[in-house]
Amino acid sequence: MSDTFTALVLRETDDGHVGALEELTDADLPDGDVTVDVDYSSLNYKDGLALAGKNRIVRSYPMVPGIDLTGTVVASDSPDWKVGDEVISTSFQVGERYWGGYAQKQRVRSEWLVRRPPGMSAKTAMAVGTAGLTAMLCVMELEDAGVQPGDGPVVVTGAAGGVGSTAVAVLAKLGYEVTAVTGRPEQHDYLRGLGASAFLTRAEMTEPPRPLESETWAGAVDTVGSTMLAKVLAQMKFRSTVAACGLAGGADLPTTVMPFIIRAVRLQGVEAVMAPIPLREAAWARISVDLPVDLVEAMTEVVPLSELLERGPSILEGQVRGRWVVDPNA
Ligand code: NDP
Repeated sequence: MSDTFTALVLRETDDGHVGALEELTDADLPDGDVTVDVDYSSLNYKDGLALAGKNRIVRSYPMVPGIDLTGTVVASDSPDWKVGDEVISTSFQVGERYWGGYAQKQRVRSEWLVRRPPGMSAKTAMAVGTAGLTAMLCVMELEDAGVQPGDGPVVVTGAAGGVGSTAVAVLAKLGYEVTAVTGRPEQHDYLRGLGASAFLTRAEMTEPPRPLESETWAGAVDTVGSTMLAKVLAQMKFRSTVAACGLAGGADLPTTVMPFIIRAVRLQGVEAVMAPIPLREAAWARISVDLPVDLVEAMTEVVPLSELLERGPSILEGQVRGRWVVDPNA
């Protein structure tokens, strides 16, 4: 790589921020003990917020956004990482407080890194990214709670999004009967291809629920929150579990205690941003086994870094299907 490299930089203005592709040098890179040539990054919901200047996601300027990256170590002051290692960094406030993956080169902290699983391509790793890691953590929580494929159908909300698509694919691969909730009926064929066997509309799942409704779901992965999560809770079977990770529909939760005290439903929160490294390593190992590569490709679109400022915020309107992998070298 030449002495300069391209990065998407957000700079603060009087009324928000402005973003542009800039040519930087190593001297511009932030503090850190590992420097990585970036192969790919990805687009997550939080990246959409950062690009659009919403929710104060960006904590300091100038900022290179992109909460995920994967690439090859080109310099290291850490005993844990050597030149040539293939690494993944997801979240840990990267792209919010620390410079992130929307660059051809980045300097990060060694303690944020995990090794790319053997045989997993850089593109696949970023098709997974924070969204896929979150989905896998949700599935692992359902398993830890004892939810098994024979227990009955499981439901995934926000199914055509990044977390939802990955959850559908992994759960179906593991043998669960998956119902997908989506506001985009045109994505039914796509979701069927990932393994969903039944569908519910966003409209019917955002009708205010009664305190308890028919016992339907043995498990649930919720990426939406608000009324949809309340609806899911009201429909859970006795002693079942909901893994809740998202707020695409809102941060409130208009529910009652009835699902908890009458049906012993467990509401398990899932958090991938500060998740400890051993948990991440376990999740990545599971992903490399339980997420078929052909399904990863089916849910992935590669987007050049140069198009991201314009196209990235569309994730906030629920317009992104599956996962966008960001190519900083295109
Ligand atoms: P996406 O935008 O890719 O997916 C969200 C999906 O939710 C959309 O595709 C859409 O699915 C559905 N949706 C969007 N708006 C609404 C709405 N108003 N009402 C109901 N459904 C809606 O985002 P991600 O999959 O990347 O992230 C999903 C959520 O998970 C986000 O809230 C994100 O912040 C959160 N998250 C949390 C993490 C954690 O650590 N807890 C980590 C990563 C993400 P469809 O079109 O199928 O209806």
